[in-house]
Amino acid sequence: MTQTDTLTATAARHANGHAPGISRTGNRLFFYTLFYFALAASVELWWLNTPAGSVDTPAAALIAAGRVTGMVGGFVLIVQTLMMSRAAWLEAWVGAHELLIWHRALGGTVVVVVLAHAALIVVGYAGAEHASLAHETWTMLTTYRDMVSAFVATGVLVALGLLAIRTIRRRMRYEVWYYLHLSAYLALLLGYGHQFTDGADLQSGFARWYWISLYAFALACLVWGRVVEPLWLNLRHRLHVIEVVPEGAGMMSIYIGGRRLDRLDAEAGQYFRWRFLMRGGWWQAHPFSLSAAPNADWLRITVKVVGDHTSDLQHVRPGVRVFAEGPSGAFTAGHRLRHGALLIAGGSGIAPIRALLDDLPADTVLLFRARSEAELTFRAELDELAVARGIQVWYVLGSRDDPAPRRAFSPRGLRELVPDVRRRDVYMCGPDGLISTSRRALRRLRVPGRQIHLDPFEF
Ligand SMILES: Cc1cc2nc3c(=O)[nH]c(=O)nc-3n(C[C@H](O)[C@H](O)[C@H](O)COP(=O)(O)OP(=O)(O)OC[C@H]3O[C@@H](n4cnc5c(N)ncnc54)[C@H](O)[C@@H]3O)c2cc1C
Repeated sequence: MTQTDTLTATAARHANGHAPGISRTGNRLFFYTLFYFALAASVELWWLNTPAGSVDTPAAALIAAGRVTGMVGGFVLIVQTLMMSRAAWLEAWVGAHELLIWHRALGGTVVVVVLAHAALIVVGYAGAEHASLAHETWTMLTTYRDMVSAFVATGVLVALGLLAIRTIRRRMRYEVWYYLHLSAYLALLLGYGHQFTDGADLQSGFARWYWISLYAFALACLVWGRVVEPLWLNLRHRLHVIEVVPEGAGMMSIYIGGRRLDRLDAEAGQYFRWRFLMRGGWWQAHPFSLSAAPNADWLRITVKVVGDHTSDLQHVRPGVRVFAEGPSGAFTAGHRLRHGALLIAGGSGIAPIRALLDDLPADTVLLFRARSEAELTFRAELDELAVARGIQVWYVLGSRDDPAPRRAFSPRGLRELVPDVRRRDVYMCGPDGLISTSRRALRRLRVPGRQIHLDPFEF
């Protein structure tokens, strides 16, 4: 595969008039409203099941608070499952990164709320029955039907909460952390029976059916997003490696072929989780963004060697079968709010940014930050695009402390390079330092947050 092939594909895309429109929907707002509405409806089940004046003692108040936190904890756990279902419609609707932010924030909440639920119920009933906490705990464990599994589920959630702490997580291999994290489904399973057999508010009628429907919906999305969609995609397209092309600076592009790629429903800027079915590779799926807009003949990803797996990918042979899950992500031209765009890339972050250039209008501006010329992956391709499509490409070179790059990413520097920056959507992908400096400058320039799109290369 040569640079001419990639540029020909880009030219063909534009000749066919492919240009995603501007997003005008209020998807996220609708999702948030739906979340809080369903949360309120879940707490309402407790309210409807509680006779007026029945919360009349401190013990009754504690038990009531325990029931409410139980409903909130159960609901959030269902939402967590839904958000990580990878259902394509949900990721396209809300954005995979946004879902991840919610998942992280709610992960802490669910642990705290479930622990509060357990503590409030034990203390509340101990108070009502004038028993010691140890005696009440023992009574609950031995007389309530699904209480033991509920306690184990709580333990699993707490362990997962600890694993999510950044310093602990950073010390583990990603795969170890990921497979341990899957035990969240065990917590979901173990806690299910307890909610119906021991939960006073879900015993019968509408409440029971409402709760079962929430579970059924989340599980259906999970099976759909994690099993049905990937199987369908891979049976249909039968992906395989065509070629590996070194790009310099520890990067390489992998071209992937398959059947009926013209029907692959993916956009420039999105990523797949790729599983290369070779020795030592089949059991791990790694996310890589498309580095060119998809076309009928091939897909391209561009990978930086940073560890074991990416190192092995340098030696992947043509013909190796690939199992892909996706596409995911809302880092696409179709999600922008303005016509014009500014792209900021650094390091391997150039991969999705290069693909986006295939879908954005000709007056797009690209700032590509690198330490030296040698790190400018796709340099020739970008120069060609600049000439062919009139895209403005600025290479900002130098080490972190050099005055030129510091100035370029200051509010003043950005305004000089892109005077109409406030009227553009800004897409950023690169090292943390570059992203945070650029974000600070954009905030100072009053670029609305809604117009800023990030593709952080980490989960
Ligand atoms: C949405 C997304 C898109 C990405 N797109 C690109 C791209 O286009 N080009 C590119 O070079 N890199 C991309 N990455 C980063 C890439 O996935 C990691 O560099 C790669 O998985 C590292 O694997 P390793 O075994 O070689 O390195 P390791 O040394 O094992 O891992 C290095 C770091 O990569 C992350 N990582 C490792 N394995 C996984 C995994 N299975 N899933 C998710 N994260 C993992 C962890 O944060 C880890 O600390 C992307 C990451 C994400 C989240």
